[in-house]
Amino acid sequence: MGSDILSNSIYKQILKKIKEYDEIVIARHIGPDPDAIASEVALREIIKYNYPEKKVFAVGTSVSRFKHIGSLDKIDESILAHALLIILDVPKFDRVDSAYKPRYDYTIKIDHHPCDEVVCDLELVDTESSSTCQLITELIYNTKLKINKDIAATLYLGVVADSDRFLLSYTTPRTLELCAKLLNDYKFDLMPLYDNLYERGINERKFEAYIINNLTITENGFGYIKVTNEIIKEYGVDSSTASNMVNNLNFIKELKVWAFSSYDEKSELFKINIRSRGIVINEIAERFNGGGHKFASGARLKTESDVDALFKTLDDACKE
Ligand code: AMP
Repeated sequence: MGSDILSNSIYKQILKKIKEYDEIVIARHIGPDPDAIASEVALREIIKYNYPEKKVFAVGTSVSRFKHIGSLDKIDESILAHALLIILDVPKFDRVDSAYKPRYDYTIKIDHHPCDEVVCDLELVDTESSSTCQLITELIYNTKLKINKDIAATLYLGVVADSDRFLLSYTTPRTLELCAKLLNDYKFDLMPLYDNLYERGINERKFEAYIINNLTITENGFGYIKVTNEIIKEYGVDSSTASNMVNNLNFIKELKVWAFSSYDEKSELFKINIRSRGIVINEIAERFNGGGHKFASGARLKTESDVDALFKTLDDACKE
């Protein structure tokens, strides 16, 4: 996609709808990553910057680790009249955090996850895009929307985080072109962005060492670890810390696919993060009620035997 005629018209249609509505709610997926939060915060700020009279809210549970990206809004959806809902970085409504579709007049989706269904009235979906922030950046450069330095920095941060610093295969010439354009046009400072994204306490580094030391690697090239809550407590980290570390195992020669399981006490579910260096894993994750990208997927499972069954299927896929 990018700047061809078709996508150009979708950007214009999105802008037309934004202009049409005075109340706009922006939502993203549960268990957000930096791209999910950066895209909703950036889009809210873009709309406010260009249309200060509009009421715009970026909703969802806030995550203390990502507070540096921007604050989120709490709203009572029942008082909204004729509002527009924009969902970001999420393919279907079952994983949208804090927005209930029937409350809205019109819905838009901007996302880079594969999805075989149309779930919104208007959709900008590009599975070749590195990130949702890249798609929002396309929206800027394909319309007359203006942004400032802070918004540019937020968009850049989302692209860097989701492409894992331009390491993942979704990094294309267009990704680099748009990032260079943002940097060139708005001249924001990179170092504070990287400090916020990558600075870690020594306890987290030790926890990472624990994961590497205790990872089981099968003869088929599948690596896995079940992180228990005792270990989480021992290292003074939280249950999402393992999830945030899953990309750090990229480029280990012996691994084709790797997965972490951690138990979330709040939801009483096992959260699974899966990554791959070539074997398509999202179709496997979907069979276990999860999903995601071809080489980066996840699932939430009820029982430990479900976890074992998923891990066995991933190991079998490595064998094949
Ligand atoms: P994560 O390992 O949490 O970073 O997730 C990797 C990718 O899989 C992201 O694109 C998520 O949106 C997607 N994903 C994670 N968990 C699920 C799930 N339970 N259902 C569908 N997609 C998921």
